[in-house]
This record gives sequence, C-alpha cells and structure tokens, in this order.
Amino acid sequence: MTSSAFPPSLAEAVADAEARAPREAVSVYRCADDGAWHFQRLTNRAAGELAFELDALEWAALERDAGRGLCLVHSHVDGPAVLSAKDVAAFTVGTGPLIPGLSLVVLGLQRGRVVEARGYVFAQQWVHVELFDTFSLQSHRDLH
Ligand SMILES: [Zn+2]
Repeated sequence: MTSSAFPPSLAEAVADAEARAPREAVSVYRCADDGAWHFQRLTNRAAGELAFELDALEWAALERDAGRGLCLVHSHVDGPAVLSAKDVAAFTVGTGPLIPGLSLVVLGLQRGRVVEARGYVFAQQWVHVELFDTFSLQSHRDLH
C-alpha cells in the first residue's frame, strides 16, 4: 500500500464537508508533477442531501489534467465512512478504477462534524487502507 496515493492532510476537505453539511460534499486533491497536492472543491449536482453527483465538465477537466494522482473525497452525512455499493459502482469501470491512479476518501459526519475518514485504493477492487487516525484525521505518516 502506498501512502503517496493520499495527500498529507485532509484539512481543506474536512472544512468543506462540515461547511456543506447536511448536504454531501465532494472535492478532490490533485497531485501535481512536482508532488504537491492541490485541493479543489467540486460541485455536487445531486438534488437530494444524501447523495452526490459529479459535474461532468469538472470531472472531464480533472481527467485531462490528472497529473500524478487524484484523490476524490466525498462525505457521508450521519453515515459511516465506508464506500456504499453505489460508490463502488460509480468509481469502477469494468475491472478497473474510474481513472488510473484514482484513490478515494470517505468522510463520515455526525451532527455536522467529521468524525471519521477512510482511504481506499484500487487493487482488483476498492480496498480500505488504514491511513488516517480516526480522531485527529492526520495521516499516520505525520505521527511517526
Ligand atoms: Zn458515498
């Protein structure tokens, strides 16, 4: 498991998810060619609160300019930070990830606060990787 599939901090995504609650939030960290991760808030096109739908134009631009990696973050409001069956279907094409090198983070919120973050990478299927401390939301790399 490579920790370089994830940004060193989720602070911007956590703040964005809490600001947009009770709607689900969606955002992305893009790893540039120099290895720096850049945060971008994405539009949630879904009409309901407990769903998200990417904006096709925003996503197409990200696919064109994926750089060294993309980490897509979305929130589950009053739900666990676990990929749903719908998430798995949305982020899988055939037997591969939606785009090569994509990683996923799900943020779990309770009463408007992010209380859990889980990372996923694609290895035959989407698998959970223990990268984040559930309380501090810091990468384990920061704790060593
Ligand atoms: Zn989800």
